[in-house]
Amino acid sequence: MLESELIIFDCDGVLVDTEPLTNRVLARCVSAVGWEVDQAYSITHFKGRNLDDILIDVEAKLGKKLPGLMDEYRRQMYIEIHEFGVPALGGIHELLDALDAMGDQAPHRCIGTNAPLEKARLTLGGSGLIDRFEHRDGSDRQTMFSAYEVGKWKPDPGLFLHVAAAMGHEPEACIVVEDSTAGVIAAVAAGMRVIGLADLTPVDDLAKAGATQIVESHHELVAEFNLSQ
Ligand SMILES: [Mg+2]
Repeated sequence: MLESELIIFDCDGVLVDTEPLTNRVLARCVSAVGWEVDQAYSITHFKGRNLDDILIDVEAKLGKKLPGLMDEYRRQMYIEIHEFGVPALGGIHELLDALDAMGDQAPHRCIGTNAPLEKARLTLGGSGLIDRFEHRDGSDRQTMFSAYEVGKWKPDPGLFLHVAAAMGHEPEACIVVEDSTAGVIAAVAAGMRVIGLADLTPVDDLAKAGATQIVESHHELVAEFNLSQ
C-alpha cells in the first residue's frame, strides 16, 4: 500500500489527455518556422518541458531568434482546445472516486503543473475535473498550483517544494503522479516519491528518470493505493 499525506497530480497527461493535441500543434508551429518535426518527435523531446527551454532548442537548431513562435503556438493551442476539447485520462475519475471513498483517511490532493493556470482551468473544466479538486470541502484553499506562480518549472523541484509547503506537508510525505521525465526528475529532486504514469513516455525513460514506481494506467493506481475498485 502506498501511504502518503498528499498526492500531487501533474495535469497534462495525468489528469487530462492534452498531450496528443498540444504536441501536434507544437510540431506544426516548429515546422512552420523551418524545423520539420512531427508529433512523435515533439512528444519525445518537448513534452513536459518549459516552453522557454524548448524555444532555446529551436532557435539553436535554426540559428535565428524566433520571438513570435511560442505566442503563435499558444494562440493555435487555445483555438484547438476550444474547438475539440480534451478528454479526462482513462480511469482518473475512478481513482478520485476511490480516494473520496476513503473519507477522512484519504490523503490530501492537489495539482502541480508547468502550464499556466488559465490552460489548466480550461482543460480540467471541460473534462469535469476542476470540481474534484477545488472547493471540495467548501473551503477556498488553493489546490491548483502553476509553475508560473513560482517562476520555476519542472525539472526544477521548486514548484513541488512550493506545493508541499503551501499544503502543509513535508516532501517525504508526498507522492507525485507524473507522466513526463521532466516531472519525475523534479519530484525526485524535491525528495518526494513519484509514480510514473507510462502512457506516451516509455517505461524505461520514466525508470531512468528515477520514478519510484511505474504504472500504465490509473486503473493500476487504484490497486497501488490499496483502494477498492
Ligand atoms: Mg505531464
